[in-house]
Amino acid sequence: MAFATLGLAPNLLQAVADAGYTQPTAVQVQAIPLALEGHDLLVSSQTGSGKTAAFMLPCLQRLMAAGPARLPRVLVLTPTRELAQQVAKASADFAGKRGPRIAVLVGGAPYAVQLKQLRGQLDIVVATPGRLMDHLQRGKIDLGGIQTLVLDEADRMLDMGFIDDIEAIAARLPAERQTLLFSATLDGVVGKLASRMTRDARRIEIARTPEATPKIEQKLLFADGHEHKLKLLDHLLSDIEVRQAVVFTATKAGAEELAGRLEGQGHAVEALHGDMNQGARNRALRALREGRARILVATDVAARGLDVPGISHVVNFDLPMQAEDYVHRIGRTGRAGREGQAYTLAHHREQGKVKGIERYTGTAIPVATLPGLEPKARAAKPASGWKAGEARKRSGKPLQGRSYGNPNAGNPGARRGRPSW
Ligand code: AMP
Repeated sequence: MAFATLGLAPNLLQAVADAGYTQPTAVQVQAIPLALEGHDLLVSSQTGSGKTAAFMLPCLQRLMAAGPARLPRVLVLTPTRELAQQVAKASADFAGKRGPRIAVLVGGAPYAVQLKQLRGQLDIVVATPGRLMDHLQRGKIDLGGIQTLVLDEADRMLDMGFIDDIEAIAARLPAERQTLLFSATLDGVVGKLASRMTRDARRIEIARTPEATPKIEQKLLFADGHEHKLKLLDHLLSDIEVRQAVVFTATKAGAEELAGRLEGQGHAVEALHGDMNQGARNRALRALREGRARILVATDVAARGLDVPGISHVVNFDLPMQAEDYVHRIGRTGRAGREGQAYTLAHHREQGKVKGIERYTGTAIPVATLPGLEPKARAAKPASGWKAGEARKRSGKPLQGRSYGNPNAGNPGARRGRPSW
């Protein structure tokens, strides 16, 4: 497939060639023609898939074809200022010097520069939701001319607590607009946001490429009870190989309690859960990113989308409520091409839940023990069908066969339903 077949104008084809792109990526092949036709899109794709060009090239083409206008016509919302800057830079590179005018409105940057930009004529606004809301509330920007709204990394924006800002911003946009939503997953809360924000959207699901799949070694440790789990955790965290770890608990109270206990033992630890305000959550994440915290004790919702390359280990102190969350949890390690370790602690009576996870991922989690901390109780009698899983579990080989095989293993974005056990 060549770029020339996607319907892009000659100047953009030249820009793409100048950027050194010889072939469009999967997301570009699927998204560019539909976006050019004006459809709303829901796209599940990962960072690194070429998604920026997938939404920006059609936006630029439509802007260039229409010529100058008084108000900005494209709004791109991103979770972080770094991503906003990347998007703006890619757009400027594709559009060239005489292309559309772009403003970047992000937190942590001086207002004066942004206000100056807002006084001039603009075509594209790339913004983080919080700072854009500031400008809106002060009456410094008119979004009444927006024709295309792009929500980039929508799942991360929701993780960061931007849902209210996004809804408030969308309410200021013309209803007759195109909406392009990109997210690592289209399930759960992202799916709900997507259905409110888009109309008759086309859905595009891009599977992870094998080379993008992180190398995460998984292990299952059975425990006799809560005290035993605490001992296993102490042992795991005392390992010098643990550069940084995320420990998952089932409840907010559990996260607080465990973080307090670990702090009492002298660990550099932060808690992260939904009861904390945004400021406290940001502080916890900053401490982790800057290496001041070695351990993060978190609940599922709070840790979604967390991307810190230093996280070498994930410990599931409690099993996740949904099998799908297991995939999100262990994906917090093995970032940026590194290897990661994921330990799951489970009571013997939780074998059914473990089996549900294995069925969902299509991979058996090998059972391991820590020397001196072997479980005393024997595993409960397996339910029917468990035996086969048990044999595979020991071998650590992927599950096969119709009842277990899952072609989408490891790619949560490719599944529509949330299986429960
Ligand atoms: P993104 O997923 O948009 O962050 O893009 C990831 C990287 O892939 C960026 O460095 C892009 O410049 C690059 N890229 C995007 N599309 C292509 C393509 N068709 N061929 C080669 N590289 C690309």
